[in-house]
Amino acid sequence: MFNNLSEKLDKALHVLKGHGSITEVNVAETLKEVRRALLDADVNFKIAKDFTKRVKEKAIGQNVLTTLQPGQLMVKIVKDELTELMGGDAAGINLSGKPTIILMSGLQGSGKTTFSGKLANYLKNKKTKKPLLVACDVYRPAAIDQLHVVGDQINVEVYSDKGNNDPVAIAQAGIAHAKQHGHNVVIIDTAGRLAVDEAMMTEIANIHKAIEPQETLFVVDSMTGQDAVNTAKAFNDILNFDGVILTKLDGDTRGGAAISIKSVVNKPIKFIGTGEKMEAIDVFYPSRMADRILGMGDVVSLVERAQEQFDEEEARKLQKKIAKNQFGFDDFLKQIQQVKKMGNMKDLVGMIPGASKAMKGMEIEDDAFKHIEALIHSMTPEERSKPSMINASRKKRIAKGAGRSVQEMNQLLKQFDQMSKMMKMMQGGGGRKLMQMMKG
Ligand code: GDP
Repeated sequence: MFNNLSEKLDKALHVLKGHGSITEVNVAETLKEVRRALLDADVNFKIAKDFTKRVKEKAIGQNVLTTLQPGQLMVKIVKDELTELMGGDAAGINLSGKPTIILMSGLQGSGKTTFSGKLANYLKNKKTKKPLLVACDVYRPAAIDQLHVVGDQINVEVYSDKGNNDPVAIAQAGIAHAKQHGHNVVIIDTAGRLAVDEAMMTEIANIHKAIEPQETLFVVDSMTGQDAVNTAKAFNDILNFDGVILTKLDGDTRGGAAISIKSVVNKPIKFIGTGEKMEAIDVFYPSRMADRILGMGDVVSLVERAQEQFDEEEARKLQKKIAKNQFGFDDFLKQIQQVKKMGNMKDLVGMIPGASKAMKGMEIEDDAFKHIEALIHSMTPEERSKPSMINASRKKRIAKGAGRSVQEMNQLLKQFDQMSKMMKMMQGGGGRKLMQMMKG
């Protein structure tokens, strides 16, 4: 996420961060570089200009040149301004309706249907919410099917009425259905077109007027940069929406949309989409995002993701197994699957402070565990539960079955061994022992 921008900002701020002398000249030079970095990231020209102007004013106001740590102070000013630009505090969603009606808007392909599913899943996991998804795309039967597929995946009911070509009527019937069946949130997925056009705008405006949603969300593909901002403006003029959803932030997004959208439409970004899976949804926190943009990582979100995937029941079972020395490859596989649910590797690495920079140029595969999984799948159930029985000839067979080398198989066994040892130590009240081991 935002790799290019992060790198350029880091370079721009580098001189000031280091111990080199700080003068008015290099502050000005730095800010020029910061502005260039923002423009390269597809941030709107005026926003980039105002941004650097504000940073400069603050720097002068706080007398950056004479402070003890001018470099760090500059970074802090840039961070605070970035946070402010992206909306300041995190904005929640209004769930006060009975039922709460959430209307999705946006262009086709922006990720509306996927996000509708993600949001339903997110709310469902909050336990007190029972969402209903409503399919209002009357032009593409495939879109209705797609929402049903999503609904099946997350176990959320989908209301649709194929053949009915009145989206307002479908939305209303969906809400009535929700009331009858005890759903307290209704998420309405609407049709999008490839570009902003009048027919689409009229249609969504009509739906909006008829159902009076508590939340109207505008979904936009962050890869589209300045276009995203223009589309947002067009939709906001018609709908006066409540919040923005930025999708596809897991890709090679330049960052322009995330940074500019709030100041153009004056509506907060509420959630971000970071992958195609239903779990790839995050609340948008401007300050955490600023940290990530400045290469400072985002440990808080990383920990939260880990907590979301944490299954207490499983953890207890695992603990028992470790205590009894029964930890096997099936458990290892389960662990891998949990980590995978947290997001793709590139994204996770970006959340560790400094890691993106340290791993720059290294190829991080999206599915870094693919080969490990293949090797484990190539083992017999017996081998998985008793890894010590894997001798040289078994190694050869397993590697061959997975299409990998024996060397990789050896590496996996080594990793497995280390992980088992580590877990045993953590169990035996041995946090201290572990620390000692790590210190070497
Ligand atoms: P809609 O036409 O607006 O309903 O868009 P879809 O939900 O069908 O999404 C279009 C494509 O984008 C699909 O292939 C999705 O899997 C993909 N997609 C949606 N959200 C994300 C995301 O956050 N990250 C990535 N990488 N892909 C996404």
